[in-house]
Amino acid sequence: MLRANDPTLHSWIEISPTSDFPIQNLPFGIFQTHTKTPRVGVAIGDYVLDLCVLGQYNMFELIDIDPTVFNRPFLNDFIAQGKPIWRAVRNRVSDLLRNNNDEICGNPELMEKCLLKMSEVQMLMPVKVGNYTDFYSSIEHATNVGTMFRDPKNALLPNWKHIPIGYHGRASSIVVSGTPVRRPNGQTKAPDEPAPAFGPTRLLDFELEVAFITGRETNHGESILPEEAEDYIFGLVLFNDWSARDIQTWEYVPLGPFLAKSFASSVSPWVVTLDALKPFRVKGPEQDPKPLPYLQLAGEHNYDIHLEVFIQPEDGAENLVSRSNYKYMYWNMHQQLAHQSSNGCNIQIGDMYASGTISGSEKGSYGSMLELTWRGTQALVLSDGTERKFLHDADTVIMRGYGERNGIRIGFGEVSGKVLPAL
Ligand code: MN
Repeated sequence: MLRANDPTLHSWIEISPTSDFPIQNLPFGIFQTHTKTPRVGVAIGDYVLDLCVLGQYNMFELIDIDPTVFNRPFLNDFIAQGKPIWRAVRNRVSDLLRNNNDEICGNPELMEKCLLKMSEVQMLMPVKVGNYTDFYSSIEHATNVGTMFRDPKNALLPNWKHIPIGYHGRASSIVVSGTPVRRPNGQTKAPDEPAPAFGPTRLLDFELEVAFITGRETNHGESILPEEAEDYIFGLVLFNDWSARDIQTWEYVPLGPFLAKSFASSVSPWVVTLDALKPFRVKGPEQDPKPLPYLQLAGEHNYDIHLEVFIQPEDGAENLVSRSNYKYMYWNMHQQLAHQSSNGCNIQIGDMYASGTISGSEKGSYGSMLELTWRGTQALVLSDGTERKFLHDADTVIMRGYGERNGIRIGFGEVSGKVLPAL
């Protein structure tokens, strides 16, 4: 067991048992305040620990790290230090927060400077995203979409069980939780319309996804084996891959998603390390037929992470509309990364690889409005009595996720975004 994951650990900071951020989590993020420039922080209970200040007080002097990497507007330079270093930093932060350690809590001046209320900081994009790939790895989602748009008898295309299908998305429009998302304009054409038109999407949707962030680069020409992939992954975030279904339907043949997806994707601000998620490893679904050798991997490589989606109308209550789980993924992230790099395309630090919409087998576990309302044929009724087939202006979509084992909850916080009317 990793030392920082020990379920018996307790902190001198009081932490609610329902908090996403107990001492066993310690996710990394980037924050700023009115007086502090963007820098690296760690979430602990309702607080943020300022690693930049801890570096100034020589709290990392036993680790071979230049502490100025904490004084940066993105995590990339910290991540680039390598897995032994980011693991050592997490262990050190864990030590400093333990109830038998007084290096911070016995030093009022340091404590005042390094511990901030989470409600008083602004979270920023955790990484500078170089490249963004969106996979399509949930068999339930791919089956639902294939059933709706093509043929229920042959819902999965012949390649689906052989290739972790994906496409290259836009890195430039990935935004952090809390950033409003403008309803996009685009070209659409309904089957009964004679010609296409340009205007606001009428079928705005969310996609419930989890994304992994790479922490090690490859040289151009190199590829990664599935059993090595773990060493290349820094951590995970929740990911809302906003989608415009009417634009998508008209544009996607033959080259796949384009402007229906690239207007925005939203991410949760705290990167939960793969180390912290180790207790939640489970076996994935049986893969039949067996994948080709470059994708084969035995063992537990899926993660049991509960996922929830809420829709909140303006000034209204949160409505739980979906409950899913990251463990449903047919293709796991190790296979996705092995596939992504199998042609020699180089991997960079801070790349994001999203899972694809994560749907379960039950209706209440579908990860998009497209599936929840079955292409708009069955409206959802919210607690205020209003109906939703797709998202309305001023709706806020909130996604939350956490794993729970041995009474310890390792959570992601949330990713939320409010829909603004089209321009
Ligand atoms: Mn997607």
